[in-house]
Amino acid sequence: MQVTAVSPHLDDAAFSVGGTLAALADAGLEVTVVTCFTRSVPGPRGFALACQLDKGLPADVDYMALRRDEDAAAMAVLGATPLHLDLPEAPHRGYESAAELFAGAHEDDGAWADVRAALTGLPGDLWLAPQALGAHVDHLQVLRAVAGTGRPVLWWRDSPYVLRDPAARPGPDLPGGLAPVELPQDLGRRADACACYGTQLGFQFGGAEAMRAALAGLPEVLLADAAARELAQAVVSRAP
Ligand SMILES: [Zn+2]
Repeated sequence: MQVTAVSPHLDDAAFSVGGTLAALADAGLEVTVVTCFTRSVPGPRGFALACQLDKGLPADVDYMALRRDEDAAAMAVLGATPLHLDLPEAPHRGYESAAELFAGAHEDDGAWADVRAALTGLPGDLWLAPQALGAHVDHLQVLRAVAGTGRPVLWWRDSPYVLRDPAARPGPDLPGGLAPVELPQDLGRRADACACYGTQLGFQFGGAEAMRAALAGLPEVLLADAAARELAQAVVSRAP
């Protein structure tokens, strides 16, 4: 049985649903985390460069290469296989400020179609994907890409956005008629995996210890339609 999680960035799946992924891998399932926006763009400028400098990294460092390495280490902790799609993050698609990242997708931003095309043909009996809580445009694009595929999906609450705003609403493409599904989760392994994302912890949480404290009280709640809930329960109960 193949479980495939679709992560916008190199950290979202681990921050949001790492405990569930670890437990599914422990249950003997093949777990793959596909991260969509991981392209290295040489010579970043403007807002894209600022996103790197504000993490304390000089301009000549291949920021995404560092992040892909962090992700490989985190996935090893979870027992998952990383797959990195070569698509550019929003600052390389015409989004020019932090505010713009959270102000909705540009009409001419076809990233969702690129994500959907890249997912075509990938194996997955059960899928996990973001609800896009917090409305980061890259998360909205992944939600839109996955929602249109008709696959069985468990939709996760985006962390750390849900920590900042527990009332954050999902993106407009989230299907209706969803309910929570109960799955095992290993929150200790989630924290250990998240600790691998060294370039992000200061910016997102204020450091590794603060990350552990913040995530400790955050259970993973996944929403799914009736068919995906039934499939998820069957997958877990049938796991070797
Ligand atoms: Zn993200």
